[in-house]
Amino acid sequence: MPRAATSRRTFSSYRDKGLTIIGVHTPELDPERNIENVRREVAALGIRYPVITDNDFATWSAYRVEAWPTMFVLDKSGRIRWMHVGEGAYDEAEQTIQRLLAEDEKQSSNTIEANTPEKIEMTDKVVKSEQEWQKELSSDQYYVLRQAGTERAFTGAYWDNHEPGVYHCAACALALFSSKTKFDSGTGWPSFYAPISEANIIKNTDSTLGMVRTEIKCRRCGSHLGHVFDDGPAPTGLRYCMNSAALKFEKEK
Ligand SMILES: [Zn+2]
Repeated sequence: MPRAATSRRTFSSYRDKGLTIIGVHTPELDPERNIENVRREVAALGIRYPVITDNDFATWSAYRVEAWPTMFVLDKSGRIRWMHVGEGAYDEAEQTIQRLLAEDEKQSSNTIEANTPEKIEMTDKVVKSEQEWQKELSSDQYYVLRQAGTERAFTGAYWDNHEPGVYHCAACALALFSSKTKFDSGTGWPSFYAPISEANIIKNTDSTLGMVRTEIKCRRCGSHLGHVFDDGPAPTGLRYCMNSAALKFEKEK
């Protein structure tokens, strides 16, 4: 936290040029979980930018931070463009910020995930009882989302959908995949080579059915979506094999 004050001096001059600085406080010791203690420290250090408390380690896990201080520079569309663990590298951070601020709209729309709502959504968690889920979801949706079931291949609504748009979680509506990263995998399940944001999904090791697979869950509500395999196309080489029943497609207007 004291170091954050150092970086504030360096970067606050870009505030009116479009740079937003947000501090995230993940507690190490129990007293740091108390918001009043955090508030006092923030005031004592003269920090003016907003500081988010991350008591349940959601941000820490979403960004896969393993040490602190860690600094991330995100571009306008929410993608991580630079990160640094530890002290220093202020010059490099400053150069990155200047470069991103200079990027025009045209340049940033040439990137893969351009024009998708790919904000790193650090949304509040959606927690419901299984009874509530059962009431809200259809039986197919409930079987996939809440019981980690798999729909039969070539039976879902989206494996052959080629319309432009965004695929949301069918349980909590969090944006998960864009049609821009969808490809024909031949498997009979909707397949994508990347999520809209890594921060919107959870990857879990799944060793059911006698094989080790990586399960994909929705970050916001914890519902099962499908699995990811490493036999996908460029640029990631990944194949996110999803269930249509876990998704709700919203056509681009
Ligand atoms: Zn969800």
